[in-house]
Amino acid sequence: MKREMSQKMIRILMCPACRGDIKHDKARGELCCAKCRERYRINNGVPVFVQGKAKVI
Ligand SMILES: [Zn+2]
Repeated sequence: MKREMSQKMIRILMCPACRGDIKHDKARGELCCAKCRERYRINNGVPVFVQGKAKVI
C-alpha cells in the first residue's frame, strides 16, 4: 500500500548523469543527486530519470 519509494531502492540508484549518489528529498518529493545536484521527479513511486527539463511525460 506504500506509494513512497523505499529507502532500499533509492540506495541502489545512481545519478544517470554523473553516477553520483541519489538522495531522497522528501520535502519536495524528488530525488536529488548529491554530486551534480540534478533533480529527478518521482512519478507514482517510480523515479523519472530524464535528463534535461522535461516536466511532462
Ligand atoms: Zn549527478
